[in-house]
Amino acid sequence: MGNRITIGSIAGIEVRIHRSWVLIALLIGWSFWNRFVLVGYAPTPAVAMAVVGATLFFLSVLVHEFAHALEAQHRGVEVSGITLFLFGGVTEMSSDIRRPRDEFALTAIGPFSSLVLAAIFGLVAFYSGLAGLELVAQVAGLLGWINLALGLFNLLPGAPLDGGRILRALVWWVTGDRQRAVRFAARTGQLLAALIISFGIVQLLFVPAAALGGVWLIVIGGFLAFAAQSEIAQLALDEKLGGLTVGELLQRDELMTLTADTDVATAVEQLRVGPESTVAITRDGRAVGVLLIDHVARLPADQRAGRPVTEVMLPVEELPSVDRDAEITEALREMAGARPLAVTSREEGRERIDGVVAPEQLERVVRRTLQLGEPQATATSVGRPDAPGHLPRGGG
Ligand SMILES: [Zn+2]
Repeated sequence: MGNRITIGSIAGIEVRIHRSWVLIALLIGWSFWNRFVLVGYAPTPAVAMAVVGATLFFLSVLVHEFAHALEAQHRGVEVSGITLFLFGGVTEMSSDIRRPRDEFALTAIGPFSSLVLAAIFGLVAFYSGLAGLELVAQVAGLLGWINLALGLFNLLPGAPLDGGRILRALVWWVTGDRQRAVRFAARTGQLLAALIISFGIVQLLFVPAAALGGVWLIVIGGFLAFAAQSEIAQLALDEKLGGLTVGELLQRDELMTLTADTDVATAVEQLRVGPESTVAITRDGRAVGVLLIDHVARLPADQRAGRPVTEVMLPVEELPSVDRDAEITEALREMAGARPLAVTSREEGRERIDGVVAPEQLERVVRRTLQLGEPQATATSVGRPDAPGHLPRGGG
């Protein structure tokens, strides 16, 4: 989180850059400049060409990511933003892709747009060369090759690269088993990463002229290996959580609840003795907000008595929301900022708020799942004891 800087928002999609991107941009600018000087330009015009080239490179990556993002939105997948880092970017989606053909389409359009850009830059280079616009032809030509490389590299068949996601969509489509497809694509991603790293090592050790290229291959391969590994870890957690939904979690693990007319001093005393650090605030049985221990802790002791909790709570309307039928993993993703979520459901087309879910509840269910293994079939018949002494009936 802290490694990303938001630079703006286009069509409701936040564009962020990873801090490492600043270094990459300088490196790219420098290598462009180097190339232009090598082909015979004086250092000063080469600086201008390099700046224009690096800017166009940045825009090219942005076009690629926006192609993913807009196609995703078009297919009803929520996009929370785009982050540029290393030589590419990531489009962050906050809701699940539900159909393989959606995954196929929203993935394939990225490399496709890079290839289209390559063709456009190639044509510009060709015609400006004919017209004697040598400077334009040089810059456009370079961008053409780079977009071609970007499109083709991204098509390599291993997740998290686009090619791996296309493969995943196809396996999902054919087998109907999404988890199997995710695992398959992540494994091919690991294999691909291993190949890229070995290639880099060979280049570094035996081809002195291309040693720097070898280092880059090792860095890129290492990044791919890490990303493929985390997809596998994520999948393992998904499987262990066994499709448990947010609604089911709410039924089994309720937050401490206080009514809206409670004063802050009373809330503080409740928080003092319980294990919770989040309290749901209700009015007439409906969740209206959440009180976080940090909020009340900041309030001086003499300002707590007589002050209604509604004055210091976070109103539910201001919380990010998650559907009651969504799986826990979706809530985990949505909660990346460690904020409570409002749980919503749809009734006759209208969205209503059913309750709130706090980070600590998700943390608890994940921890328990990792300790106890995945829920068994009988788990669905085990209810939350709703009154003291009233034990849930065993599964049968
Ligand atoms: Zn892509």
